[in-house]
Amino acid sequence: MAWQMAFLLAVILLSGCQGMRNVKRGKPLDVVIKPSILEKNPCYKAGRKIEVKGLMLHSVGCPAPSGERWVKSWNREDYGRACVHGFIDAHTGVVYQTLPWDHRGWHCASGSKGSGNNTHIGVEMCESQFLKYTHGATFTCSNEEASREMALRTYRSAVNLFAYLCHQYHLNPLEEGVIVSHAEGNKRGIASAHADPEHLWRQLKMPLTMDGFRKEVAAKLRLYNLPFWKRLDDGRKARHVIRHYGTRG
Ligand SMILES: [Zn+2]
Repeated sequence: MAWQMAFLLAVILLSGCQGMRNVKRGKPLDVVIKPSILEKNPCYKAGRKIEVKGLMLHSVGCPAPSGERWVKSWNREDYGRACVHGFIDAHTGVVYQTLPWDHRGWHCASGSKGSGNNTHIGVEMCESQFLKYTHGATFTCSNEEASREMALRTYRSAVNLFAYLCHQYHLNPLEEGVIVSHAEGNKRGIASAHADPEHLWRQLKMPLTMDGFRKEVAAKLRLYNLPFWKRLDDGRKARHVIRHYGTRG
């Protein structure tokens, strides 16, 4: 009996220590990334790479909450209109990664000063099935509560994902032009005239903004003590951080 007791005690002590270590390290970022590369899409086949200088947040602009369905419909040889780096599922918050992060996407077309496709990773948040677009970015909604819940879920996943990407690419989320929405990209002259994703939050009467989003990404990086403003030279520290996330994306 004595050895069983000793064993039990050891297990309790060890799990306690593990808990302490986790507290010290901070918890891993709460984001699930599911590799779902759109290998048949002509954009993937074009095979161009970019130096990642920023991240662009999009919202799909139609009532289609399932990330998996977006993956299915865009993973086609005859779908040459668009291609993004990821879709965030509105039911689960799971990120379907649809292009390697440094692949040149086709997510924002271009504006008067060029194209954000050459510099920015583009990620789409999927939207509630209860929306009905009437014209342009205007919609009516048959279930506001559920739609807000979905919008908040994708927003939270996007905060975590963008914190992860800021770390991976040594980006400062608060620096001018680094994290932008599609609508802001248009104002900066690097994207087509779209209103996403702010149109969604505004019409669902949610207190979400891009400024708030950027601050939350920065807060995440601070929480995990990640030096997002400078290159990580210390290899050991970098490996430690990667363990935090549990994935290299
Ligand atoms: Zn967009």
